[in-house]
Amino acid sequence: MSQSRLASCVPLPLENKVLVEVIEKAKDWALMHGVGMRDKKHFNKDVIQIAPFVLLPSPFPRTEFNKAIELQPVLNELMHKVAHDERFLEQTLQNALQVDEFTSNLYDIWVKVRNEGITQSLSLGLFRSDYLMQRDGNKIKQVEFNTIASSFGAITSNLPSMFRYILRSLGMVDKIKHMPENRALSGLCAGIIEAYDLFGVPGSVVLFVVEEVSYNICDQRFHEFQISETRPDIQVIRKTLNEIYEETELNDKKQLILEGKAVAVVYYRSGYEPAQYPSSREWDARLRVERSSAIKCPSIHYQLAGTKKVQQALALPGALEKFIGAGASSGRVRDIFTGLYSLDFDEAGERALEMAIADAERFVLKPQREGGGNNLYGDDVRDALLRLRHSRERAAYILMERILPPLVSGYVVRPGAPVPPPLTDLVSELGIFGVIIGTKDKIYCNRQVGHMLRTKLADANEGGVAAGLGALDSPYLLDM
Ligand code: ADP
Ligand code: MG
Repeated sequence: MSQSRLASCVPLPLENKVLVEVIEKAKDWALMHGVGMRDKKHFNKDVIQIAPFVLLPSPFPRTEFNKAIELQPVLNELMHKVAHDERFLEQTLQNALQVDEFTSNLYDIWVKVRNEGITQSLSLGLFRSDYLMQRDGNKIKQVEFNTIASSFGAITSNLPSMFRYILRSLGMVDKIKHMPENRALSGLCAGIIEAYDLFGVPGSVVLFVVEEVSYNICDQRFHEFQISETRPDIQVIRKTLNEIYEETELNDKKQLILEGKAVAVVYYRSGYEPAQYPSSREWDARLRVERSSAIKCPSIHYQLAGTKKVQQALALPGALEKFIGAGASSGRVRDIFTGLYSLDFDEAGERALEMAIADAERFVLKPQREGGGNNLYGDDVRDALLRLRHSRERAAYILMERILPPLVSGYVVRPGAPVPPPLTDLVSELGIFGVIIGTKDKIYCNRQVGHMLRTKLADANEGGVAAGLGALDSPYLLDM
């Protein structure tokens, strides 16, 4: 087997008639089990359409999958410690803060609440560490670490079951044993519930911070259903930042009061990008929540720890050792890093800049943003660097070596697309979910809770599923 291509779990192509039939079954399964989304073009709250998915689970080496799972608690703890190191965050972000208003607004909130005195020292992290495999050797490399609104834990928990049904329909029952279970949804919700219990106020509520319009509604609602099912005493309320501005207040104990009840946990599914703060009201709401005694998921310092700039700084010599010691863990974490470079105005920054201008294809240029669609690739890297070369703005970007994952053939099933779809070359990105709860001095829980796989056309730069580029998937583990 060539290293740049992995064999699909089923010999392909499938015969046309078989393909058409199994896709129809799979689509119905998806619709009836919430593998769905709202239509962006014809938005209608009464209608859910299928989320894009791949017809067959994508191959993934078992050893690399297990490695990612084993590393998750180490990464959770690393990010927790980074978030509580004020000096490190300040030094790491200082240049970006000068030119990046969004990050600087977040940072200002953090400084403000610190100066006032932290009301709630506990943070809740529902994290997701993302990986691509490097095709030369098929080893995982970290793409990024998400500390806010890490999505698709819920829908992807249903996918092993969907793929088992598809494989059974194809008469391939023997393949099923290669598919790991995924309990991300219950694991993530257990984190919210544990934080709720640590808050310890009977009758308090959980607040989900949501967008004005939620297209990825299934993924969010499943969390609510799960919490309601396991803990009927916990009420979940969904509000936008603007509604939080209008409908909440802090009482004299700094409790966040909503509909007459104290908020125990605030879970952000929005609030990670500038467009989600169209006015000062949203920022005021964020500040109010941060000032309150509610346990935030994430707290503002968790969000700052999740910036690309921090990711780059952690790749500098000695940084990991500072947080997790010089033992085996540091080596294992370093192993998943790929080349990460600052573009600050210093010798290293100049060197990185020249290197990328000379060989742009080898790199991805990333601003301090989340949510997909913000990075630059190929010629755009060179153009942007030539433009930014003498501008202070360049400090808000990092440069990352481009990871080239192995290809696999497969079919992508999309809403409204012709059936059968063409057989195409695909690449997959693995996400591992982690839960952590703790204060600066004490960690109450730290677990790996599940995974997600999303797959995109091999020639697409990015594969966000909510953005319409990627397709939901589940790993088919290979013993290579
Ligand atoms: P965001 O926070 O916007 O999701 P990411 O860093 O996760 O930003 O990048 C978005 C997508 O771009 C990833 O899911 C991946 O498909 C692609 N990507 C990011 N970094 C790299 C890289 N170093 N090599 C190859 N592809 C990358
Ligand atoms: Mg990402």
